[in-house]
Amino acid sequence: GCATVLVTGGAGYIGAHACKLLKEAGHRPVVFDNFRTGWREAVRFGPLTEGDLLDPAAVRSAFDRFRPDAVMHFAALSDVGESMERPELYWRNNVVGSMNLLDAMTATGVGRLVFSSTCATYGEARGELTESHPQNPINAYGRSKLAVERMIGDYAALGIETVSFRYFNVAGADPAAEIGEHHEPETHLVPLLLDAIAGDRPEIVINGDDYETPDGTCIRDYLHVTDLAGAHVLGLRHLLDGGGSLTLNLGTGRGFSVREVIEAAERTTGRTAPVRVGPRRPGDTPRLVCSGAAAHAALGWRPVRSTMTEMIADAWAWRATGRFNA
Ligand code: UDP
Repeated sequence: GCATVLVTGGAGYIGAHACKLLKEAGHRPVVFDNFRTGWREAVRFGPLTEGDLLDPAAVRSAFDRFRPDAVMHFAALSDVGESMERPELYWRNNVVGSMNLLDAMTATGVGRLVFSSTCATYGEARGELTESHPQNPINAYGRSKLAVERMIGDYAALGIETVSFRYFNVAGADPAAEIGEHHEPETHLVPLLLDAIAGDRPEIVINGDDYETPDGTCIRDYLHVTDLAGAHVLGLRHLLDGGGSLTLNLGTGRGFSVREVIEAAERTTGRTAPVRVGPRRPGDTPRLVCSGAAAHAALGWRPVRSTMTEMIADAWAWRATGRFNA
């Protein structure tokens, strides 16, 4: 049946898309967000309970008030560069915040969790990643998320079943352009590129073109945000049906270089991007691709909107709406 789902980070980019799909699937998403990186305009699909995961009383009162059947946990700091300069923020927010969430779940008897993890928990990788790849994260962000994965694993003894998803790059927007991507400051390739194409930024800087890849620029696996959010709804369904804990990668298995993303954006928008080649960005690896095969086998998930053209077109259409008019 239908579930009340507490969605931490439900005012953020991915969380808001999950809320929309939860509502469309007949569930009731309750957003829990501190609005550090989320947007009030993105809370449109269910009630809001404003609070911080670092405040155990606020977390507990959200559970007492809304009596959720399950939790989707997106709330986290996720900027890799910032995590190396301010590791304490990442360890506290991501690890202590998740612990407060798990404690509220066990205290109130909520035993189903869908956790938004990351392929950054793997660290250096060559070739297509599978779930059994060793986890040796190379930055504080990845290490904090791996710590949460381990903690969640141990809380299984307290009755918490979890579907964890690991994924790389997310792009695109709600096809109806009701919600989309908006970060301040923006660091991600697709929104920066579309800004440059629209003339809102002087140029897009390619972070190095001397990598060991066919065109010298880094290759990444990009997933449409609605495909990603859809996987989370399927993970919830799996838990509600008693399927038990799973850890799954989400990807297309298809990589795009930075130059290929730029070309796709130029083709899709019909405009030219002002491009400059800059230095490498510390921490970038040449090629990161992961397969969705295990997620397909376990949940029947497959990406249906993750062509580069659709991701660019949806992000471009969302951009034209004025992005929460910010
Ligand atoms: N990138 C780039 N110029 C930019 C932003 C990103 O060349 O202005 C590159 C970045 O180095 C990486 C890819 O685009 O190879 C995707 O970067 P993004 O920050 O979007 O996601 P990440 O892969 O870091 O999670």
